[in-house]
Amino acid sequence: MTAEELVAAAKTRADCKRLGARLDAEPDLKPAVVALARANGVDLPDDAPTWPGKRLLRLARGREASSREIGNPVALDEAFTCVSCGREVPRHGRSARDHCPWCLVGLHVDDRVPGDRASTCRARLDPVAVEQKDGRWILVYRCSGCGATRRNQVLMDGDPPDRWEAVVALTGRMP
Ligand SMILES: [Zn+2]
Ligand SMILES: [Zn+2]
Repeated sequence: MTAEELVAAAKTRADCKRLGARLDAEPDLKPAVVALARANGVDLPDDAPTWPGKRLLRLARGREASSREIGNPVALDEAFTCVSCGREVPRHGRSARDHCPWCLVGLHVDDRVPGDRASTCRARLDPVAVEQKDGRWILVYRCSGCGATRRNQVLMDGDPPDRWEAVVALTGRMP
Protein backbone atom coordinates (compact mmCIF):
# COMPACT_ATOMS: atom_id res chain seq x y z
CA MET A 1 0.00 0.00 0.00
CA THR A 2 1.27 3.48 -0.78
CA ALA A 3 1.20 6.24 1.82
CA GLU A 4 -1.65 7.80 -0.15
CA GLU A 5 -3.70 4.61 0.06
CA LEU A 6 -2.95 4.21 3.76
CA VAL A 7 -4.06 7.77 4.50
CA ALA A 8 -7.16 7.43 2.33
CA ALA A 9 -8.06 4.14 4.06
CA ALA A 10 -7.90 5.72 7.53
CA LYS A 11 -11.48 6.86 7.85
CA THR A 12 -12.49 6.56 11.48
CA ARG A 13 -10.85 8.14 14.51
CA ALA A 14 -9.60 4.69 15.55
CA ASP A 15 -8.08 4.11 12.09
CA CYS A 16 -6.25 7.42 12.34
CA LYS A 17 -4.96 6.61 15.79
CA ARG A 18 -3.69 3.25 14.55
CA LEU A 19 -2.05 4.72 11.46
CA GLY A 20 -0.51 7.54 13.50
CA ALA A 21 1.06 4.96 15.81
CA ARG A 22 2.24 2.96 12.81
CA LEU A 23 3.95 6.03 11.35
CA ASP A 24 5.77 6.51 14.66
CA ALA A 25 6.82 2.85 14.64
CA GLU A 26 7.83 2.93 10.97
CA PRO A 27 9.36 6.38 10.42
CA ASP A 28 10.36 5.35 6.88
CA LEU A 29 6.71 5.94 5.97
CA LYS A 30 6.73 9.52 7.18
CA PRO A 31 8.42 11.28 4.22
CA ALA A 32 5.67 10.02 1.91
CA VAL A 33 3.01 11.38 4.28
CA VAL A 34 4.85 14.70 4.44
CA ALA A 35 4.90 14.76 0.63
CA LEU A 36 1.16 14.14 0.67
CA ALA A 37 0.58 17.04 3.08
CA ARG A 38 2.74 19.28 0.88
CA ALA A 39 0.73 18.21 -2.14
CA ASN A 40 -2.29 19.47 -0.20
CA GLY A 41 -0.59 22.85 -0.04
CA VAL A 42 0.54 22.61 3.58
CA ASP A 43 3.80 24.46 4.11
CA LEU A 44 6.00 22.10 6.16
CA PRO A 45 9.58 22.63 7.35
CA ASP A 46 12.43 20.20 6.59
CA ASP A 47 12.18 18.53 10.00
CA ALA A 48 8.52 17.62 9.48
CA PRO A 49 9.33 13.88 9.04
CA THR A 50 10.34 13.87 12.73
CA TRP A 51 6.92 15.14 13.84
CA PRO A 52 4.44 12.80 15.55
CA GLY A 53 2.66 10.49 13.10
CA LYS A 54 -0.77 11.63 14.24
CA ARG A 55 -0.01 15.24 13.47
CA LEU A 56 1.40 14.43 10.03
CA LEU A 57 -1.62 12.32 9.29
CA ARG A 58 -3.96 15.16 10.18
CA LEU A 59 -2.05 17.48 7.85
CA ALA A 60 -2.00 14.92 5.05
CA ARG A 61 -5.75 14.46 5.40
CA GLY A 62 -6.17 18.16 4.81
CA ARG A 63 -8.23 18.78 7.93
CA GLU A 64 -6.31 21.98 8.45
CA ALA A 65 -6.90 23.20 4.93
CA SER A 66 -8.85 26.12 6.42
CA SER A 67 -5.63 27.57 7.81
CA ARG A 68 -4.41 27.96 4.25
CA GLU A 69 -7.49 29.88 3.28
CA ILE A 70 -6.73 32.60 5.79
CA GLY A 71 -3.21 32.83 4.41
CA ASN A 72 -1.10 31.37 7.20
CA PRO A 73 1.13 28.33 6.93
CA VAL A 74 0.47 25.60 9.48
CA ALA A 75 3.82 25.34 11.18
CA LEU A 76 4.19 29.03 11.65
CA ASP A 77 7.31 30.52 13.08
CA GLU A 78 7.51 33.80 11.27
CA ALA A 79 8.68 37.28 12.02
CA PHE A 80 5.76 39.61 12.64
CA THR A 81 4.96 43.14 13.72
CA CYS A 82 3.38 43.28 17.17
CA VAL A 83 -0.17 44.66 16.97
CA SER A 84 0.22 46.20 20.41
CA CYS A 85 3.68 47.74 20.75
CA GLY A 86 4.58 47.80 17.06
CA ARG A 87 7.98 46.18 17.51
CA GLU A 88 9.37 43.84 14.85
CA VAL A 89 9.34 40.37 16.43
CA PRO A 90 11.93 37.97 14.95
CA ARG A 91 11.14 34.31 14.43
CA HIS A 92 11.94 31.97 17.31
CA GLY A 93 13.86 29.36 15.34
CA ARG A 94 12.58 26.16 16.98
CA SER A 95 9.00 26.54 18.14
CA ALA A 96 6.28 28.75 16.73
CA ARG A 97 6.54 32.19 18.29
CA ASP A 98 2.97 33.17 19.10
CA HIS A 99 3.34 36.33 21.14
CA CYS A 100 5.45 39.45 21.39
CA PRO A 101 8.48 38.91 23.68
CA TRP A 102 8.33 42.52 24.89
CA CYS A 103 4.64 43.17 25.70
CA LEU A 104 3.52 39.48 25.51
CA VAL A 105 0.47 40.36 23.40
CA GLY A 106 -0.54 37.73 20.85
CA LEU A 107 -3.14 37.18 18.18
CA HIS A 108 -5.99 34.67 18.23
CA VAL A 109 -4.74 32.69 15.24
CA ASP A 110 -4.64 29.13 16.62
CA ASP A 111 -7.79 27.09 16.92
CA ARG A 112 -7.30 23.76 18.68
CA VAL A 113 -3.55 23.22 18.92
CA PRO A 114 -0.69 25.71 19.19
CA GLY A 115 0.66 26.51 15.75
CA ASP A 116 -2.34 25.23 13.78
CA ARG A 117 -3.21 28.80 12.75
CA ALA A 118 -6.75 27.60 12.05
CA SER A 119 -8.71 30.26 13.95
CA THR A 120 -10.61 32.80 11.91
CA CYS A 121 -10.95 35.20 14.88
CA ARG A 122 -7.58 36.99 14.46
CA ALA A 123 -8.29 39.45 17.29
CA ARG A 124 -5.73 40.55 19.89
CA LEU A 125 -4.91 38.15 22.74
CA ASP A 126 -4.19 40.05 25.94
CA PRO A 127 -2.08 38.40 28.65
CA VAL A 128 -4.14 38.37 31.86
CA ALA A 129 -2.25 36.01 34.17
CA VAL A 130 0.64 33.59 34.42
CA GLU A 131 0.57 30.04 35.77
CA GLN A 132 3.27 27.59 36.73
CA LYS A 133 2.86 24.02 35.60
CA ASP A 134 5.45 21.25 35.84
CA GLY A 135 8.16 23.85 36.23
CA ARG A 136 7.08 25.75 33.12
CA TRP A 137 5.55 29.21 32.98
CA ILE A 138 2.31 29.46 31.06
CA LEU A 139 0.77 32.75 29.96
CA VAL A 140 -3.02 32.94 30.21
CA TYR A 141 -4.65 35.03 27.51
CA ARG A 142 -8.10 36.42 26.96
CA CYS A 143 -9.13 37.19 23.41
CA SER A 144 -10.26 40.80 22.90
CA GLY A 145 -12.49 39.65 20.05
CA CYS A 146 -14.31 36.48 21.05
CA GLY A 147 -13.47 36.28 24.78
CA ALA A 148 -11.80 32.87 24.47
CA THR A 149 -9.14 31.91 27.00
CA ARG A 150 -5.84 30.66 25.59
CA ARG A 151 -2.63 29.43 27.17
CA ASN A 152 0.81 29.86 25.66
CA GLN A 153 4.15 28.87 27.07
CA VAL A 154 6.58 31.58 28.13
CA LEU A 155 9.58 31.39 25.78
CA MET A 156 12.72 31.94 27.80
CA ASP A 157 15.04 30.48 25.14
CA GLY A 158 14.16 32.89 22.35
CA ASP A 159 16.31 35.66 20.95
CA PRO A 160 15.08 37.83 22.48
CA PRO A 161 13.45 35.80 25.27
CA ASP A 162 10.11 36.89 26.72
CA ARG A 163 10.71 39.93 28.89
CA TRP A 164 10.82 38.54 32.41
CA GLU A 165 9.57 41.78 34.01
CA ALA A 166 6.41 41.55 31.90
CA VAL A 167 5.87 37.92 32.96
CA VAL A 168 6.44 38.69 36.65
CA ALA A 169 3.99 41.59 36.45
CA LEU A 170 1.26 39.03 35.74
CA THR A 171 1.94 36.81 38.75
CA GLY A 172 -0.71 36.80 41.43
CA ARG A 173 -3.48 37.69 38.95
CA MET A 174 -6.46 35.43 38.56
CA PRO A 175 -7.08 34.23 35.01
ZN1 LIG B 1 4.49 43.88 21.62
ZN1 LIG C 1 -10.76 35.29 19.50
